[in-house]
Amino acid sequence: YSRQRHIDAGYEFVNTPHVTKAALFETSGHLDWYADGMFPPMEMDNAIYYLKPMNCPMHNLIYGARGRSYRELPLRLFEFGTVYRYEKSGVVQGLTRARGFTQDDAHIYCTREQMPQELDRLLTFVLDLLKDYGLTDFYLELSTRDPDKSVGSDEEWEEATAILFEAAEAQELEVVMDEGGAAFYGPKISVQAKDAIGRTWQMSTIQVDFQMPQRFDMEYQAADGSRARPIMIHRALF
Ligand code: ZN
Repeated sequence: YSRQRHIDAGYEFVNTPHVTKAALFETSGHLDWYADGMFPPMEMDNAIYYLKPMNCPMHNLIYGARGRSYRELPLRLFEFGTVYRYEKSGVVQGLTRARGFTQDDAHIYCTREQMPQELDRLLTFVLDLLKDYGLTDFYLELSTRDPDKSVGSDEEWEEATAILFEAAEAQELEVVMDEGGAAFYGPKISVQAKDAIGRTWQMSTIQVDFQMPQRFDMEYQAADGSRARPIMIHRALF
């Protein structure tokens, strides 16, 4: 059902490797900012390899595999992607905090102008899908920058946070701030759902990212023939 809904919403399905050379995670910044969450390296044939903790760097390689035109944007890449994250043995918990799991993960590449509409569409899509699975009691949490654990300029973070806040408010749900709770590359909206006995669980996350497109030198050809940089949205549903 989820697969069909994604096809209907214009996602392209991709598959990417579970293991890759260290250079990819140097480019993405994961080895600088997320190494604690990664499994130790493997050495093979004089190269260092890592299990992937996230799918984004690979999706960026797919984006960059050939020249892109503004006509292709928004480009929505979806993967049932298995990721591996080092969690201390004390915090591993059932199916909710595991060291390997498969995400319904997607990355959307769009222009700056397309951003507000794409976020609104995306948040509506995510909430509709959660409702289809019987979840109805939500609020939204907006996670902002941790200055000590992030990359990028203040202006970029402010712009990205403001765009996310507007998208969140448009849903007419309660929005709770989570100061400093964002990932190193951009602010995040998470959908928090209540279970039958009133506990809240983080469900879907949506992140706006100005950094990865720079780090991967991603471009598209704009309508006037100039080269422009896309913006990236990360989102996982469950
Ligand atoms: Zn991502």
